[in-house]
Amino acid sequence: MKKIPVGILGATGMVGQRFVQLLTNHPWFEIRVLAASPRSAGKTYNDAVAEKWFSKNPIPQSVAEIRVLAVEDDIEKICSDVKLVFSALDLEKDQTKKIEENYASKGALVVSNNSAHRWTADVPMIIPEINPEHLEILDFQRKNRNWAGGIIVKSNCSIQSYVPVLHAWAEFEPTDVIVTTDQAISGAGKIFKTWPQMIDNVIPYIGGEEEKSEMEPLKVWGRIVDGKIEPAKKPIISATCIRVPVADGHMASVSVKFKNKPTKEQLIEAVKNYKNPVADLNLPSSPNDLFKYFDEDDRPQTRLDRDLGNGMTISVGRIREDGVLDYKFVALSHNTIRGAAGGAVLAAELLKAKNIIQ
Ligand code: NAP
Repeated sequence: MKKIPVGILGATGMVGQRFVQLLTNHPWFEIRVLAASPRSAGKTYNDAVAEKWFSKNPIPQSVAEIRVLAVEDDIEKICSDVKLVFSALDLEKDQTKKIEENYASKGALVVSNNSAHRWTADVPMIIPEINPEHLEILDFQRKNRNWAGGIIVKSNCSIQSYVPVLHAWAEFEPTDVIVTTDQAISGAGKIFKTWPQMIDNVIPYIGGEEEKSEMEPLKVWGRIVDGKIEPAKKPIISATCIRVPVADGHMASVSVKFKNKPTKEQLIEAVKNYKNPVADLNLPSSPNDLFKYFDEDDRPQTRLDRDLGNGMTISVGRIREDGVLDYKFVALSHNTIRGAAGGAVLAAELLKAKNIIQ
């Protein structure tokens, strides 16, 4: 099969490097373009990331000598070379919005990690195992904006652990959710070497994260009305987001109240038997098991379980009665894979499987 040429905007950053790793030897996509700021443009990828390559594995040979392009100045060339770009930029929201719209207008499909377009009503926020039907809005988006390309986004990393679990319980109608997320330092684009203040420390604040954790699930669960995504009204979510001294892996402790309170056994069964709506498409990044349920009281654990399913499986455990709401549980997902680059690659695979990109 001829591979689809793709580019990575922000290829030198933490999430960009994850994209490089996940797309190297990908069966459907081939990295053709790596782009970043004017600081990196003109350098080989090897030189541009030399000081900040975070993985224990070396920089893949196939990309080491690619010359990094400038995200803004080289847009014409990039759009003529690739059909799809993954956006892992870290810029002011307005600037990111403008850049992503420019790419879409010049024919590229943009799959973005950035929050800039998450609340744009005609931009779908895709978690393939939950709302693949939201891709239908791309037709409205392209027509209304006269774009040959388009933009889809993925949600914030903080919600990727507990929202799929709540979705598996949709038939019981969750109405109220209280969640605390313990979030890894890679979520801030950092490692312990670059953020030594996080060693032996907990910071009870992550700017903007609680609002995202409370609101984004409602867009994911929304429906398309007149070319716009109308967010769901329930459940009401209250979130506390905390930075903890962990390299990778966001863990959520959640309490939930249901309209139709199930038994604990029903909750476990619903997680184990979740009908993944994209399972039949055999997307290369789809894990064999979307969920791994643990009976053990001390699981999931970040170091032991974040890499399950190549970082795409969501671990769930400690389902138990809650004295205030109905039940509580713990969920874990890998924040830079399931929560960022891996989730975006999976969404791009969905675009290909649905023939939106060929
Ligand atoms: P990062 O490590 O700081 O990387 C930022 C990237 O943006 C670098 O490639 C940088 O290029 C590029 N960039 C900066 N200024 C630019 C400019 N003026 N023009 C073009 N490119 C520019 O950030 P990150 O942690 O990878 O995060 C990237 C995005 O993903 C953010 O929006 C973040 O919120 C989101 N996100 C992150 C995570 C996570 O777990 N880390 C999860 C979900 C979403 P240079 O190297 O040349 O400066």
